Amino acid sequence: MKKVAIIGSGISGTSAAYYLNKLGYNVSVFEAGNYFGGHTNTIEVEILGKIVPIDTGFLVHNDRTYPNLIDFFDELKIETHQSEMSFSVMRKTDNLIWAGNNLFSVFAQYKNLFNLRFYKFLREVLHFNKNSKNYLLESEGRLALTLGEMLKEKGYSKDFQSWYLLPMGGCIWSSPTNEMLEFPANTFLRFCMNHGLLQISDRPEWKTVVNGCVTYVVKALSTIDKKYLNEPVLEVVSDEKQVTIVTRHRKEDFDYCIMCTHPPDSLKIFKGVGPKAKELLSKFKYQKNIAVVHLDESVLPKKKIAWAAWNYLSVKTDDVNEAVSVSYLINKLQPLPFENSVIVTLNPVTEIDKTKIIREIKYEHPLFSTEAILAQEKMIQVQGKQRVYFSGAWMRYGFHEDGILSSKNVIKKLLVDDGRSSDLIKVL
Ligand SMILES: Cc1cc2nc3c(=O)[nH]c(=O)nc-3n(C[C@H](O)[C@H](O)[C@H](O)COP(=O)(O)OP(=O)(O)OC[C@H]3O[C@@H](n4cnc5c(N)ncnc54)[C@H](O)[C@@H]3O)c2cc1C
Repeated sequence: MKKVAIIGSGISGTSAAYYLNKLGYNVSVFEAGNYFGGHTNTIEVEILGKIVPIDTGFLVHNDRTYPNLIDFFDELKIETHQSEMSFSVMRKTDNLIWAGNNLFSVFAQYKNLFNLRFYKFLREVLHFNKNSKNYLLESEGRLALTLGEMLKEKGYSKDFQSWYLLPMGGCIWSSPTNEMLEFPANTFLRFCMNHGLLQISDRPEWKTVVNGCVTYVVKALSTIDKKYLNEPVLEVVSDEKQVTIVTRHRKEDFDYCIMCTHPPDSLKIFKGVGPKAKELLSKFKYQKNIAVVHLDESVLPKKKIAWAAWNYLSVKTDDVNEAVSVSYLINKLQPLPFENSVIVTLNPVTEIDKTKIIREIKYEHPLFSTEAILAQEKMIQVQGKQRVYFSGAWMRYGFHEDGILSSKNVIKKLLVDDGRSSDLIKVL
């Protein structure tokens, strides 16, 4: 039985381990952290004597653009329930609050009923959404075009940018709004259109996992005997014949290795990485984020009618700069057996009442740039060289479907390299 080392246990590592085990490979999973799942991180929170699972990282998927994840969940018999995809903006900088839940929440501030500037902004939102398909087509041959450049070319106002599009992008990719301006326009538009984010009707149905997303990690990894927690891989050394994995506790040879880690982490441990792989992996930059799980409603819009599943908040830091955060109101995303608001705020910009903080967790997000998008297309050239493969959500848009899709693609390549092309149909 051929041996495969999987490094990292996020969706890409967990799904790779599950499918390879099913294909009869002898799989070992190495995880640096103290839990399996990476960005799938469910914690237990006790409120009013009730203990509930709260997802602090990966939360939602939908019935339209996550086909591989849904197959995986079906196979594992994972139950899901309906969730909500709504969005609010609170800009202390302009004293502006609005939310897209319904007409009442759009005009959550009555003063905006008589505000021409606000109507002009709404007209631009409708105009952008209506024209986004054309913009997407136009951007197909211009992969280097950034979102900022496209908005300038099309003449969209600052209000439109900072009251709608950049906050929405910032919430989706957990990026500061100025980073969103550098985001490749084509990738942004394709993602938003596929996910029905720029339309009012015929939107996909969003879902979360019953009892928290950790459920699927536990089920998928229950089929794997050799899985090691708190065991960071320190070195990967490979040649034409084998891959050697070194940790604090072992040095072991494998036939293949799949690095399901973020590129900067892969580069740190892959000794003797080839020049092409090094060049491509170094195009992917990451940003550190802190997620605070808490009960402090001060991060939500003042009026409850504007509370949404994702709540964007910006404050001025000085004359030119703004600091932004996004708060997930978990009550709108997962069913909770009490009224108390449970909130996960990414990178808080206002002080959160310390007595209401439950947990602080560090994450790292990819920062997409044109360079990174171009490198994604070339990754196929280095997959399997010296028996090492690379997988992760960073290989496409940065979401769960991308993680599992990337692992399935890598497994297909590994099967071919291993002379088992005839088995392709069995799993994928
Ligand atoms: C707060 C937050 C909310 C999100 N919400 C959503 C959402 O609602 N929907 C969605 O689709 N996506 C969401 N995402 C995006 C998420 O990043 C991806 O969906 C996906 O979970 C990333 O999976 P991955 O396997 O690529 O990486 P990760 O989950 O980051 O896994 C990488 C793993 O590698 C491990 N590792 C690193 N170095 C080593 C080493 N040397 N040895 C061993 N192990 C190592 C890490 O500890 C980690 O467990 C969210 C992300 C965050 C942070």
